Amino acid sequence: MAAKRGKSDIDAVVAAAQQARLLREQGYRERALKMYPWVCGRCGREFDHSNVRELTVHHRDHDHDNNPEDGSNWELLCVYCHDNEHRRMLDAQAGSGNTRGGGTKHKPFANLKSLLDGDSSGPEEEQD
Ligand SMILES: [Zn+2]
Ligand SMILES: [Zn+2]
Repeated sequence: MAAKRGKSDIDAVVAAAQQARLLREQGYRERALKMYPWVCGRCGREFDHSNVRELTVHHRDHDHDNNPEDGSNWELLCVYCHDNEHRRMLDAQAGSGNTRGGGTKHKPFANLKSLLDGDSSGPEEEQD
């Protein structure tokens, strides 16, 4: 209904949104680093200015848009523990699908072997 936006306007809006997101992420990281001691919440590793970039802000509910002022959704984790934390979450999700101990008997090479066997006795050798 409103006036049509030109492409450059849309680009500007997108760029502004990305910029805002970046600022917001930097914002909560800085706030979390001011609020909490620079210690990994899992392994207890301590950080200082030389390595603080390896200390990351984890969102307890995994919602990066949930950034309450009191920091209750933030947890400072080193990059390794942060990675682990998200892996556990993924594993839990995958586990609900029950991928282990199932009856899937997938043998990718069974078919290949029969193909190779068949080929070796194939009518390839013709003599003049
Ligand atoms: Zn850690
Ligand atoms: Zn996280």
